[in-house]
Amino acid sequence: MPRTQEAVPTHCPYCALQCGMNLRPADGTVVVEERADFPVNRGALCGKGRTAPAVLSSRVRLTEPLVRTRPGGPLVPATWEEALDAVASGLARTRRAHGPDAVGVFGGGGLTNEKAYGLGKFARVVLGTSQIDYNGRFCMSSAAAAHQRAFGLDRGLPFPLEDVPRTGCVILVGSNPAETMPPALRYLTELKANGGTLIVVDPRRTRTAEQADLHLAPRPGTDLALALGLLHLVVAEGRTDAEFIAARTTGWEDARAAAMAHWPELVERITGVPVPRLRRAVEMFCAPASAMVLTARGPEQQAKGTDTVGAWINLCLATGRAGRPLSGYGCLTGQGNGQGGREHGQKADQLPGYRTLTDPDARAHVARVWGVDPQTLPGPGRSAYELLDALGTEVKALLLMGSNPVVSAPRAAHVEERIRSLDFLAVADVVLSETAALADVVLPVTQWAEETGTTTSLEGRVLLRRRALTPPPGVRSDLEVLHGLASRLGVEKGFPTDPEEVFEELRRASEGGPADYSGISYARITAEQGVFWPCPEGSPGTPRLFLDRFATEDGRARFTPAVHREAAETPDADYPLLLTTGRVVAQYQSGAQTRRVPELNEAAPGPFVELHPRLAARLGVAEGTPLAVTSRRGRAVAPARITDAIRADTVFMPFHWYGEGRANTLTHPALDPVSRMPEFKVCAVRVEPA
Ligand code: SF4
Repeated sequence: MPRTQEAVPTHCPYCALQCGMNLRPADGTVVVEERADFPVNRGALCGKGRTAPAVLSSRVRLTEPLVRTRPGGPLVPATWEEALDAVASGLARTRRAHGPDAVGVFGGGGLTNEKAYGLGKFARVVLGTSQIDYNGRFCMSSAAAAHQRAFGLDRGLPFPLEDVPRTGCVILVGSNPAETMPPALRYLTELKANGGTLIVVDPRRTRTAEQADLHLAPRPGTDLALALGLLHLVVAEGRTDAEFIAARTTGWEDARAAAMAHWPELVERITGVPVPRLRRAVEMFCAPASAMVLTARGPEQQAKGTDTVGAWINLCLATGRAGRPLSGYGCLTGQGNGQGGREHGQKADQLPGYRTLTDPDARAHVARVWGVDPQTLPGPGRSAYELLDALGTEVKALLLMGSNPVVSAPRAAHVEERIRSLDFLAVADVVLSETAALADVVLPVTQWAEETGTTTSLEGRVLLRRRALTPPPGVRSDLEVLHGLASRLGVEKGFPTDPEEVFEELRRASEGGPADYSGISYARITAEQGVFWPCPEGSPGTPRLFLDRFATEDGRARFTPAVHREAAETPDADYPLLLTTGRVVAQYQSGAQTRRVPELNEAAPGPFVELHPRLAARLGVAEGTPLAVTSRRGRAVAPARITDAIRADTVFMPFHWYGEGRANTLTHPALDPVSRMPEFKVCAVRVEPA
């Protein structure tokens, strides 16, 4: 009998819930087993988590580097030495010819904290470029900016998920955990079982909305007006918390005046949500002693995403539902390390510890840890879409890790054309994604179960993923890639390949910053099932933020006034409908991994266009009819899926696929002025039988 190998406790490679799971090594791969002791998911997993090992042993995973030896030629196998030499010389050549900012770096919200930290350091110290950003900019950047503006600190959820069932009312705005993170649904089910109420704001009656006590279905792009209308009613009905506003906030009068300009009938006209439902929502939110607002990509992925989230925060502040137990505003971050990914330096404007890149003290501290002159650190670079848009012109070479923008970026055909125009592209990935297929060099890297590293979940809980499996011989870790490239580019030290060594440096770099990890260690994470930041040396960690004071200079939360404005594109005679995009339960983000899992592919084999029966009748189309959806940026084709769960003026497409059904061919790249988030969630389209 072969000896049974011990199961390794770790976390799912996909979304920000970071479900705990045990991996038992068996027959050269791993088997997923329940890990009931991890409190967040208590053993529950969605289909993506259960099937995650399939990508480890997939026939299509990359196990040797690939190099394109001539422009337009095929990618052919190469040794690691040849591949790393080619990347180093491609980046160095561009830097020599056009300067450091002609070299770009693009990261991902799935990279561990150690990789995100290493990538940011590599860009700024080795390449000397300011041009680094990551795909998390497309995920939660508006919520992050609004959090920062209102509270002085951005942590997705300022309280643990275990508080959700104990509050009185939750307004869930543009979030569909039934599809995006199913094990999280139990927090809402328990909320209702405890007598709390659930309001869901979504233009679609999603599987989450079906469980709501009240579903508000605004026209896409009007969440800001909806929040302002609710605040108007709160004021008009005398439901504000004057004591809280006076003691713990600033800026109320301007925010109040802005809300009072949005009277209910006007808001009904803008959003399509009837006034009685607005009144009902206010009653449900204000009646209990505590309440929360949780947002996700719906209100965030708009060209006014920061103000939209800010308006929902204003609602919390005006009613005294922030900085108090069981109350507050939180963002349900999407990607596995979307939170940690933005804290450790792969964002265009941030240094490790969530420090601001333009802050002289922050630069001096991080430069000391890195052993460089702070004067040599570049300033802020372009945001993700602006960086992609500059490829081939100002930015001529790109190193890309853990991202697939050819599928996931807005105006994707244009982004693909920009990527194709690069002088040099290197991609590190586990499979030949659609973006990797365009590269000059592809570096095959290890996957989640084959390496150790930390992630920070949507709760701000720092977790440890552990290696459970020996990687195939032809692959290397992203940290080994950075080490190999740094030494080839003349930086021999400072890029260790051991993740714990990197984490130790990250701790020091983050010390004293907003996201202080200095008191966190691998040993503590293991012993405590994760540690909440901020966690300075000697601290027990901070599960709940802002209970005594907000993180602003004066300790008060800041109201920011905002007024309704239309989306960058509204329907007209040529493009009479609205398109909104999102995810389905069996696929994850650009689908680079999940489309390669047979069970998931069977469950969700391709894109579709969801439309209302009235619209289908008007177009004369039936279930399954191929539909052409056209925007000013391009055309996508996918079969019709007819349902009365969507507004008749709106169609929905999931964005996980490439080819003729690529939803992001259609989406609008208008950017939020603060967060630089593109307007994924709303654009004008025309729909007709293909
Ligand atoms: Fe993984 Fe998210 Fe599914 Fe949990 S909910 S198993 S973290 S994909």
